[in-house]
Amino acid sequence: MSITPIIGQDTLQKFIFDNASVRGEFIDISATWREVLSRHVYPAPVKKLLGEMVAAAALLSANLKFNGTIIMQIHGDGPVNLLVVECDAELHLRATAKLASDAVIADDATLPSLLNASGKGRFVITLDPADKMPGQQPYQGIVPLDGDDVSTVIENYMLRSEQLDTKLWLAADDNVSRGLLLQKLPYHGGTTAVETTPLTEDEALETWNRAVILGSTLKQEEMLSTTIDVLMERLFWEETIRVFDPLHPSFHCTCTREKVGNMLKMLGRPEVDSVLEELGHVGVNCDFCGQRYDYDKVDCAQLFATDAPVEALIPAGEVKH
Ligand SMILES: [Zn+2]
Repeated sequence: MSITPIIGQDTLQKFIFDNASVRGEFIDISATWREVLSRHVYPAPVKKLLGEMVAAAALLSANLKFNGTIIMQIHGDGPVNLLVVECDAELHLRATAKLASDAVIADDATLPSLLNASGKGRFVITLDPADKMPGQQPYQGIVPLDGDDVSTVIENYMLRSEQLDTKLWLAADDNVSRGLLLQKLPYHGGTTAVETTPLTEDEALETWNRAVILGSTLKQEEMLSTTIDVLMERLFWEETIRVFDPLHPSFHCTCTREKVGNMLKMLGRPEVDSVLEELGHVGVNCDFCGQRYDYDKVDCAQLFATDAPVEALIPAGEVKH
């Protein structure tokens, strides 16, 4: 089966080895990535890391099949303070980066130098369920930044927290973001194809090792310049693989005037009043999409006149507008 790309539409292609020992996903999320980049100006090394995280967040979201939003963050202690990508169950994504105000970033800067300069960088995954009970907290996993690139950090996280052997290959630049995820499936002693002889555990392991070796032949330049259907054919032409209906990730920002208003309420009246006094209005730009929200004196008075609880509307994690 071939994948027919629609111009400007992103594709996530799930597949499984027919002997049920390995599953995987190829993603081309370039259109979504360009939407993110059209709203921000970042140095090249930051673009590479954030673009790779965009691909990884969609791959993990489709892999975990979690009904809610996955928030993937790297908190840095160097020139980059934060990289964050959010992806919901429909594969709607948004992403942003926060650089230190005095950040000087060389073109060849790496993940450790940008985000883990003193070894205090953290990788955080938050799972925020769509159908939360009142008062229910999102699940959050926080680990040290263990790895020299985005894929290694995530692989180590998956092994540690999900006990899943997962391998990722990611590539991103100004225009393109692509990735491959491979995951070893638990051995059950059978196969999905009835006409084939069941695999032994050794054979299942051998298939996994072979898949990883094939994945490891991928070069970043090759991933940036080649469509995922060609990459899939190139890598796995000798394997019997079943592909599923493609999914289509897209850019979507969840900011609303109501959420920004709640953020102002959290800041508190004295803070908001002092900005009003100084500027005559309060202006807030969404960190993710750049949308501007303005509040004049009347708007602010209305905000603080209502006593609606604000907790339920605060976004998960430390990402605030
Ligand atoms: Zn927004």
